[in-house]
Amino acid sequence: MKNSHKMPSVKYIFVTGGVASSLGKGIISSSIGKLLQSRGYKVTIQKLDPYINIDPGTLNPYEHGECFVTQDGAETDLDLGHYERFLDVPTSHANSVTTGKVYQEVISKERRGDYLGKTVQVIPHITDEIKRRILLLGNRNKVNVVIIEIGGTVGDIESLPYIEVVRQLRYELGAGQVAVVHLTLVPYLSAAGELKTKPTQHSVKMLLEEGVQPDVLVLRTEKKLSEDIRRKVALFCNVDKESVVESVDVFTIYEVPLKMLEQKLDETLLKKLNLEPDTQPQLDDWREFVNKLHHPEKTVSIALVGKYVELPDAYKSIVESFVHAGVSNNCKVNVSRIHAAGLTETNIAEKLKGFQGIMVAPGFGERGFSGKILAAQYARENNIPFFGVCLGMQVAVVEFARNVLGLKDAHSTEMEHATQHPVIDLMEQQKGITEKGGTMRLGAYPCRLKKGSKAQTTYGREEILERHRHRYEFNNHYLNDFEQAGMKASGFNPETGLVEIIEIPSHRWYIGTQFHPEYSSTVLHPHPLFVGFVKAALNSEQ
Ligand code: GLN
Repeated sequence: MKNSHKMPSVKYIFVTGGVASSLGKGIISSSIGKLLQSRGYKVTIQKLDPYINIDPGTLNPYEHGECFVTQDGAETDLDLGHYERFLDVPTSHANSVTTGKVYQEVISKERRGDYLGKTVQVIPHITDEIKRRILLLGNRNKVNVVIIEIGGTVGDIESLPYIEVVRQLRYELGAGQVAVVHLTLVPYLSAAGELKTKPTQHSVKMLLEEGVQPDVLVLRTEKKLSEDIRRKVALFCNVDKESVVESVDVFTIYEVPLKMLEQKLDETLLKKLNLEPDTQPQLDDWREFVNKLHHPEKTVSIALVGKYVELPDAYKSIVESFVHAGVSNNCKVNVSRIHAAGLTETNIAEKLKGFQGIMVAPGFGERGFSGKILAAQYARENNIPFFGVCLGMQVAVVEFARNVLGLKDAHSTEMEHATQHPVIDLMEQQKGITEKGGTMRLGAYPCRLKKGSKAQTTYGREEILERHRHRYEFNNHYLNDFEQAGMKASGFNPETGLVEIIEIPSHRWYIGTQFHPEYSSTVLHPHPLFVGFVKAALNSEQ
């Protein structure tokens, strides 16, 4: 590892947020990570979420957007998706901490008697457990820098123990080991024609009350900050002027690292952490990606048929995978989210008219199922490139069973327990499981691809590893019938025979995957199936 002789210990950068939520702490954390990584440092990013759920796996996507799944099967906040897409390194269970997990651990220790009769309290027991998880990640992953994003907004009751941890760690680890980046909003008041810094001042004051002086302020703003404003913020918030960084709205999140680099945020942080910024950032690939993103040669329109369409974050990784795949096809992918529940036999042709590709999204439950069936049928019958992900693959299977095999009441037992033809059925290992949290088939499993299949030629390999989040599977009892009629299984789990991929070879491009390819698409490694799907869509004539 470059520079490792200069780094005897792990450094920690905390990213906190103030004034408002949704300012993009995840993107700022990822951007800082990218810049340090591009200088040769080994970096990981951890998310601390102050909510009491153990993980977001049981949360409705309308609450917190998509649930991201790591290789080792953790159900996590969608920010971990950003970390992976920016850094191109996998995250794990250890990268995601919630108040629920922290309390669960402390309470089970208490029940075991580990505290030897002591009163168990937020300080020190909860804060110690949070610190343990932060330090463990740094030491176990042999990284130079851990970036820790604290969810929520400073001033929230539930985030207090996390801010206290920042205070303690800075004190315990000593000077130059910890840096704090605080992200706030500088609103523009059009009536006054002015940018306002007071909310930032208040937010920093709140952090100070909790014992933490930020080292760097990143200010989200719609308009560029004048020198005057920077000076004012620096003066009132006790930071030097170079440590006031603006984050103006940009065309794409992938531009943020470059904007931060222009303002030397990485250098400023390295100096604060007593690391010599003597290497130059290597960002050629990244710049090329952003450049292509700005200058697409064509556009392609994809219909994303799902049930959480009102909230863009519900399909975050899918939308980002299309961005990556678009760049690798030199095109812009316009993804239109279509409400499955609004699709009927009479409007399907009109609703899906003009789309060059149709994707049916992952999901759970009955709502919108019949609309998804119609979308899969429409794509199949009209030779429009189709990509079904997880539930989307299951929908394709049910549709084929009903309309090609003539099994009129074929269904998934998730939707219709008593169906005569359970072409999608609960996995054997899932029978008897009653708890909802963390009990699905989760994380990466190997899959063997059939030589010569569309899936295999698209990947260019025969062995793949893909991430999962499901309870139901293709019912192999019907496999022969499907294959005879033209829908082939082209990917299997080598140990269990579970069907991981289905495809229709006579169709232009019709693939369904039981796994979630969107979790492993990154800027520098777009997912082959997304790339292939977009390419097929570009070539389709509709
Ligand atoms: N509901 C389906 C299952 O549990 C699909 C899950 C998904 O799309 N992630 O198998």
